[in-house]
Amino acid sequence: MRITLVAGARPNFIKIAPIIAEINRVKALGSDINYRLVHTGQHYDDAMSGQFFRDLEIPLPDVNLNCGGGSQAEQTAQILIAFEKELIENPADLVLVVGDVTSTMACSITAKKLNTKVAHVEAGIRSGDMKMPEEINRIVTDSISDYFFTTSQLAGKNLLQIGKSQQQIFFVGNVMIDTLLKFKSKFKAPQVYNQHKLTHREYLVLTLHRPSNVDEADALRRQLDFICEQAYNFPIVFPIHPRTQQQLDLTFLPKNLIITSPLGYLEFNYLIQNSLGVLTDSGGITEETSIMNIPCITLRENTERPETIEFGTNVLVGKDSEKLKYYMQKMLSNQWKQSQGIELWDGKTSERIIKVITNTFIS
Ligand code: UDP
Repeated sequence: MRITLVAGARPNFIKIAPIIAEINRVKALGSDINYRLVHTGQHYDDAMSGQFFRDLEIPLPDVNLNCGGGSQAEQTAQILIAFEKELIENPADLVLVVGDVTSTMACSITAKKLNTKVAHVEAGIRSGDMKMPEEINRIVTDSISDYFFTTSQLAGKNLLQIGKSQQQIFFVGNVMIDTLLKFKSKFKAPQVYNQHKLTHREYLVLTLHRPSNVDEADALRRQLDFICEQAYNFPIVFPIHPRTQQQLDLTFLPKNLIITSPLGYLEFNYLIQNSLGVLTDSGGITEETSIMNIPCITLRENTERPETIEFGTNVLVGKDSEKLKYYMQKMLSNQWKQSQGIELWDGKTSERIIKVITNTFIS
């Protein structure tokens, strides 16, 4: 069978890596499965793309559609056009999309319009927040996909509610955690760690990139000042996403804020694993901290990953500064709930996914 794998942005590369490794493993054992890796070019600079291919041992893409830059609409339109051409020239039995970025949605639409089956990995999760571009991407992708690979029982229920059938839904666990467990032994200290003489559990990590947190420069600055003030002199390392960098005036920043460029996967997760805790608006990071048992405060009003709160180490504070203050004090005084582990987030998700696909497509 021929399967086209789509990846376009940072979190996609982390999700696609273990799927490719598993395809290669079963292929080496004689399975009739061939893949073509399509990079849409949505994230294009080395720190957000190339570095992840090297860190996670992902083979170079078969094609890069170079659809980076522009507004959401421009990017969607560019990907629709370029991926249609790609799929006509290189037909597939199945297009597999991961996560919730613009590339996920655009390529699922193109594939369905060319009557190609679509599998969505990380299907069915919902924040209920229609202001998030990712929520729209999830809803559109799930509305037209044929096979749904889910990270939780709740995601499956959400899919049943929109009329999908149980036979299409496969609760397999979380591919992000496959990558985390596989590469854990290779985590390495980033330059910023040594440069600032950081030590185990003696610093926090902050990441922010959601439009609701970073698109308004003054509010972003107030948020940073508040967080740094609550941490007293405790260092806070802030690997800064390109979107956030565009908004932030880097002068007169709080003394305990250590800014660095986005880090590679192995360095970033070293930083997380050794930190006292994390403040973030990323979804993927709440999953990783939950499995590494590192305290995590989510700077959002909602989450599409409630299992990280119920069973993991995550708490939601939204825009409530009293709540943020309360949880930061708990974090700094090392009083946090312990992770209980999350069902099927065990490093074997890609194996389950490829088993379903080969059982379905290869008789
Ligand atoms: N990440 C990374 N370097 C960084 C920040 C994040 O390698 O400087 C990784 C992180 O470990 C996680 C993923 O990027 O696996 C999360 O991506 P992002 O926050 O962009 O997306 P989201 O999870 O919010 O969709």
